[in-house]
Amino acid sequence: MSKPRILVIEDERALIEVLEYNLKKEGYEVLTASDGQDGLRRAQAQLPDLVVLDLMLPVMEGLEVCRQLRGSARTKDIPVLMLTARSEEVDEIVGFQMGADDYVTKPFKIKPLMQRIKALLRRQQGAEPAAADVVHSHGIDIDRRQHRVVIEGAEVKLTPTEFKLLWALIRQPGRAFNRQELMDAGMGDDTLVLERTVDVHIKSLRQKLGGRGDLIETVRGVGYRLKEDKPE
Ligand code: CA
Repeated sequence: MSKPRILVIEDERALIEVLEYNLKKEGYEVLTASDGQDGLRRAQAQLPDLVVLDLMLPVMEGLEVCRQLRGSARTKDIPVLMLTARSEEVDEIVGFQMGADDYVTKPFKIKPLMQRIKALLRRQQGAEPAAADVVHSHGIDIDRRQHRVVIEGAEVKLTPTEFKLLWALIRQPGRAFNRQELMDAGMGDDTLVLERTVDVHIKSLRQKLGGRGDLIETVRGVGYRLKEDKPE
């Protein structure tokens, strides 16, 4: 088994050193880049197993790096953990357009950050399905093997986390999932869950499902569920 390779794109030298030291201690191979453009190039060339991406970067901003990673077939499934100093931008970062898989707000503690990295990697490794898995439900076609969601003939682009959340919900219509269950389904076990993180992913997922977004119902005091199938 080769060591998982992690690319850290961060312009604060001190922070790179801290991250590099701790990641190596955990047994990862570490690549670093100190601006967005260099980071993107490295990601494309070396295809790391995960990218830790600072939001505010010289030359090319973190959001643009993330957008470009998601836009290319070779890099679109690499998990991205975003570092941000601005918690109010979390919606944008995790959500709709940018497609980061998780985020950590600066200043952060190193241990929870490492746990999140571990969870994202494990989720990625566990992503290989045993067999082709296709579900047609509520007018949504979802193919886990191809990682494709199609609504009325049009493909809907979801982040890996959104995809897993939808997959979990759609396989058990009518069942209420609490946020912890959804985080386990979407992010892997042992993730430190902020309820808000689940809510942000769900919000983004609803938006992407467009007219079918209201299939995902809020269950007050619990979490979420997919509307039960109506017999036709
Ligand atoms: Ca920065």
